[in-house]
Amino acid sequence: MAKVFNWQLGREMNYPYKDARPKKQVAWVFDTNKCIACQTCSIACKTTWSSGRGQEYMFWNNVETKPYGGYPKAWDLNVLNKIGPGTWKDGIYDGKTIFEAADQRNEKMVGYRPGDEEWNHPNIGEDVIGGGEMPQGAHIESDTHPMWFFYMPRICNHCTHPACLAACPRKAIYKREEDGIVLIDQSRCRGYRECVKGCPYGKPMFRANHEVSEKCIGCYPKIEQGKQTQCVEQCIGKIRGQGFVTDPKKGKPDPSNPIDYLVHIRKIALPLYPQFGTGPNVYYIPPIHVPADYLHQAFGPGVQDAIDAYRAAPEDDTLAGLLQLFGSAPDIMETFKVKKKIAYGYNGKGKKVAEVPITEPPQLRKAYDKKRDVYRLDVT
Ligand code: SF4
Ligand code: SF4
Repeated sequence: MAKVFNWQLGREMNYPYKDARPKKQVAWVFDTNKCIACQTCSIACKTTWSSGRGQEYMFWNNVETKPYGGYPKAWDLNVLNKIGPGTWKDGIYDGKTIFEAADQRNEKMVGYRPGDEEWNHPNIGEDVIGGGEMPQGAHIESDTHPMWFFYMPRICNHCTHPACLAACPRKAIYKREEDGIVLIDQSRCRGYRECVKGCPYGKPMFRANHEVSEKCIGCYPKIEQGKQTQCVEQCIGKIRGQGFVTDPKKGKPDPSNPIDYLVHIRKIALPLYPQFGTGPNVYYIPPIHVPADYLHQAFGPGVQDAIDAYRAAPEDDTLAGLLQLFGSAPDIMETFKVKKKIAYGYNGKGKKVAEVPITEPPQLRKAYDKKRDVYRLDVT
């Protein structure tokens, strides 16, 4: 095993290959507070990439209800049980990653290969609350809700230290130099399903009729043209931002880069289960109403600061403006600025592609619409 630096753990860790970082790293930020589980993203992805025979069960993008949802079933619990408990001290993870928990004599990482039946229920646990049942007539009095759930959209994380890549005995999986997208070379894959077992996020899937594994391709043909992925562009809730994240090992975060601003500078977008050690590049703004112990396990030690900053966003023009830019243009916004309560987004060529006010001015309409001869119930 080689030693690689994992900034999400604040330390070096073991990884089967020596350190290699792409020139640019594609990254996403998902705001869980805004997701409504409409599954538009899941269907946008499915109709684009996985509508063929043998792909019926494949949701490269899925949205699950936490705490009980999971696709494949219990994907996170299975891996958490294998790596065992860990603690965080001053931002440094003291515990085992999936690579470090492995028996070094015969495995590269601890993993779990879901059985067929674990792929049968993409919406298991949907809208089921954790924390017990709300007594009749009771109401919630605190910022944290004792009975809770939230929606968690998931795609492949196009990890910095991908476990799927490390697991593949055929070297069929590679990470693209130009944008960090992780792909399975279909001509090399022999369907051994080691990636299905190795990925702790349950994202590679086996296509039985082609005898190969497949997974999210990060909509690379769109990214090559400077466009956002299907799941980002079609998101009804405008919960998703996409761009490129600076690897702190390679350079200084840029405050005008939307992803750097949220991930590195304000630190309100956090990796999911950083303790797995793969360096995921989908970052989540955590739900603000969920009990702290759950969130701490899922998103690491920065979760309370992230929630505090998010709650204060209405008084923070830069943050509020940036969050308004999510879902406001088909182009990837590589830079942004907020001036006089207007947020501007620019594509990779520096062209302005979005301009949105932080607060929409109210539009007053007459209660009676003469042209249509109707009365309006909602006049603002
Ligand atoms: S389209 Fe957006 S709001 Fe709808 S489920 Fe997907 S992430 Fe959530
Ligand atoms: S999420 Fe899984 S499939 Fe995607 S790059 Fe990471 S380890 Fe590989």
